[in-house]
Formats: sequence, C-alpha cells, structure tokens
Amino acid sequence: MKTNAIPASGLPLPSTRREHNSQRARNARARLHSAPGDTEALFELAEAYARMERHDEARSAHRALLRADGRYADLQAPEGEPVATCFIGHFDSAPCPVCKEDGGPVVWVGNISRQVRTWGHLDPIRQWVQCDTCETIRVDAPPSPAALNRWTLETAGQAQSDGTPDIQSFNEALVGWQTELDTIQRLGFGVAWLNDPETPEPRVLEIGSEWGSFIAAAQWRGFNPIGVTTADQAAWATASLNLPCIAEDLSTGLRPEQLPAGEFDIIVLRHPIDRAEDPVQVLGAAARRLAPDGVLVLQMALHDHPVRRLQGYDDPQWSIPDRRVFFSRDTLEVALARVDLRTDQIMEAGNAAPGTSLVFVRHDDMHDLMAAE
Ligand SMILES: [Zn+2]
Repeated sequence: MKTNAIPASGLPLPSTRREHNSQRARNARARLHSAPGDTEALFELAEAYARMERHDEARSAHRALLRADGRYADLQAPEGEPVATCFIGHFDSAPCPVCKEDGGPVVWVGNISRQVRTWGHLDPIRQWVQCDTCETIRVDAPPSPAALNRWTLETAGQAQSDGTPDIQSFNEALVGWQTELDTIQRLGFGVAWLNDPETPEPRVLEIGSEWGSFIAAAQWRGFNPIGVTTADQAAWATASLNLPCIAEDLSTGLRPEQLPAGEFDIIVLRHPIDRAEDPVQVLGAAARRLAPDGVLVLQMALHDHPVRRLQGYDDPQWSIPDRRVFFSRDTLEVALARVDLRTDQIMEAGNAAPGTSLVFVRHDDMHDLMAAE
C-alpha cells in the first residue's frame, strides 16, 4: 500500500498545482465512470478534491474508499503485513479550545495514514476546522485518550530499536541549543548578571526534555535546570549525567497539573501546547509559575510560517495523530492574552523539524497597569 504515499517532491507554483489537481480529478472520474469499483481511482479523486479544497467532496470520497477497502485506513502499513481492516470507532467533535465556541468552516480534510501508521486505532480521515470567533484552527474530532494510548503503545513497540543517544548525536543536540540559550540570556539574564557570584542561578523548567541535551547545555552555562519527560528518558538523563528530571506521561497532551510546582525564571514548553486538550489552562499554569521578569519559550509549528504555507495540503503537521490545535502568530496572541501573557519575539528553532518556531513570551505588565486604573 506504500505506493500510495505521496513522495517528497519539489514545490510547483500554485497555478501548476491547480491545473495538475483538476486534471487528476478528471482522470479519476473517467476511470470511475468505466469501473465504479476502482478504489485506486477513488483515492486519486479524494486526494485531488482535498488539494482543490473541495472539502465536502473529498471527505465523501475518502469515506466511500474506506467502506470499499479497509486497507486505505492504514496506508503506511508495510507490504505483506496484515493491516487493520478499517477504523470503526467514532470520536466526538470538540469545541474551540480557546473560546469554547462550536462549529466553523473546514480548512483541511485528508487521510492521515498517508503519513503515519494508524493501526486502525485512529480515524484516518481527519478534518480541521477554523473557529468563527477567534480563528484558531483545531481538529474537529480528536482521538479519545484511550485510542491515543493504544496508538502510542504500537508506536513505542515499533521504535524500541532507537535506544539511547550516542555521543555524536548528543553533542550535535548540545550545539543545536546554543542560539536558543544565547537568546534566553540576552532577553532575561545578561552574561554579566550570570557571572555575579552573589546572584542565584536562574531556574529553568523544560517540559519535553527528552534525553536531557537542553538541560545539560543549560546547566553547563550556569542555569539551574529541571526537565520533565518520559520515565525511560528521565531515568537515563538522571543516571548518566545526574540531570534533575521528573517522569510524566505527556503522550496524550500536557495537562496543567503536570507542571511541577515552584517558581522559574525560564519555562520551555516543547510542543505540548498544540497537543493539550486545554492549551489556555496550560499557558495559565505556566504563567503562574513564571517569575515576574521570567521568559516562557514555546516551541511550536505556527500555521502562518512560510514552510507551512509552502507545503499546504501536504504539510505533515496536519497528520500528527495527537495534535489538536494549529496556532498562527495572531491566534496564539489571543490565547496568550487570556492569561495575561504576550509575545516578546519569535525565532527559528534549531533542533526541530523545518518550519518550527520558538516564541519568547513574557507577562503582559501593561495589562496589569491598565487594569489597576
Ligand atoms: Zn475560538
């Protein structure tokens, strides 16, 4: 089934893409006219419609295809391996995670199993909608926690051979954090301040610390870090480098109570905001733990980023199984304002997928001043 996955390719102009997709849809319709049971033609039609933003027709074609041949629910299944016959469950529509409004126009429909294995645990036909009120984009019917847990277990089983990092990759990760650490120092904790022996070490909390390369780099620079990651990674980072790490299961999205208690000068959240069921509450929990002059760093893929816009329909971010929200710079600001935070600056992330940004956020002191009057 892997032959149906779209190969990584160049970036044709939008006009060329439009022409290509309408030609593709015409060809598929002609094939279906002479052979109504031609599932490959139905897949071609669904993909072409989705790229043409004919969302209703794309969804109908994708659903019809799953009914006709359940193998289209698990397109990344290796050749010869028995695939899930079909996804037969149902997930509920979720309201906007920022303003809690229902409904909104569809902005993407696709079969996520083009890019990730679903093993039949997740609905492969995904739809993203945009809130009418605040314009935040969300998954219309995100997978249940139980389904995500089953999916995570299957994924972990596949990735067992990955193991712990070697010296070369750990060192590359250390190098990759330098620009981010420079920026954190420049924004909140100047070098002179760090070198003052009387000053306490700046406290850093990193959620999603993985094997600990960032907290190791931060500790090396004189910060006092603590990480939160999976039990295996936390145990490794503590045993090998004596890095303080807390084990938490973040696989179904970060919850506010998973942030450790205390006050921190720097809080780094790597990805969990767009996977959280209630991102505003998570931001609120971070804001309460952030020192008055502290900096919150959000590592995330922003929807209005040039790389996202270049990829369009084929952006792999649409297909990430546990991702629930797509913020742009504007809609993120709406969510931040709800907990009296504001963006200070944005830069590109070093150790991350293309098009990933680092958003540096502070308390919105002006908000407090205005409210006091
Ligand atoms: Zn909204």
